[in-house]
Amino acid sequence: MKPTVRAVLKTAIEATLAILSIAPLAAQAPKANLPESLRLYVLDCGHLHGRNPARPDMAVACYLIAHPKGTLMWDTGVIPDEMFTPGVTTPTVGSGSATKPLREQLRAAGYDPKDITYLALSHYHFDHVANANMFASSTWLVRKAERDKMLDGTSDSRNNALDHISLLKNSKFKIIESEEYDVFGDGSVILKSTPGHTPGHLVLFINLKKSQPVVLAGDLYHYRDELGSPTPPATDEDGAQTLKSRQQVAEFLKQHHAELWIEHELAVFEQQRKAPQFYE
Ligand SMILES: [Zn+2]
Repeated sequence: MKPTVRAVLKTAIEATLAILSIAPLAAQAPKANLPESLRLYVLDCGHLHGRNPARPDMAVACYLIAHPKGTLMWDTGVIPDEMFTPGVTTPTVGSGSATKPLREQLRAAGYDPKDITYLALSHYHFDHVANANMFASSTWLVRKAERDKMLDGTSDSRNNALDHISLLKNSKFKIIESEEYDVFGDGSVILKSTPGHTPGHLVLFINLKKSQPVVLAGDLYHYRDELGSPTPPATDEDGAQTLKSRQQVAEFLKQHHAELWIEHELAVFEQQRKAPQFYE
């Protein structure tokens, strides 16, 4: 081989190697920064209007839990992000509306949906699942009864809710069989079975250190004045079971010195700090 040819080849090989060594890094998704200690982000996923004329509007909250070992998305709102199209700043479906896409709020907190380790939904109603498909690459933590209804199409069909969960049929999933499921194995984030509103309804305990620990109530309650009520909501699938679940959660709250966050309660929601701020 002539020295000039060898030199050209050498340069070409070096250039190729340089590209190869850079390419895997460039192709890699930006790794979300997991925090050193537990964080809870409250995301504004909209409102429900006039569901009960005697009642105030409801908040629709979504939550991101960031733990040193991974992340958990809890509830996904009433409006799918796809409905934010040019010129549409407040999309509506049924009684629901939202003004902020979920994805943007996650980004502001430093996360992309594909970075999220786990998805858990309090239950399958349309106002909790609108962006469920966004987390189809996460591992879905779910009770069997809830997953079965969602996949066989007998869960909530209002406002295209079945379309909004369609990709979950391909998701990795973990069936929760125990009454309590410790998500990260250190007791800091626990899913608690609370059937009644739906067959596989869950609430979520987050053992915050600097703030009071909280239980995110899903729809175990909708309003504060339901606390201690002997009458379950008429719309619950199994009202007697709801009352048992409420009793168990009341005992759990005492045991863990935790505060109940009623997700739909607007007055409380409005006072909470929102992502990218967080509770820890
Ligand atoms: Zn709800």
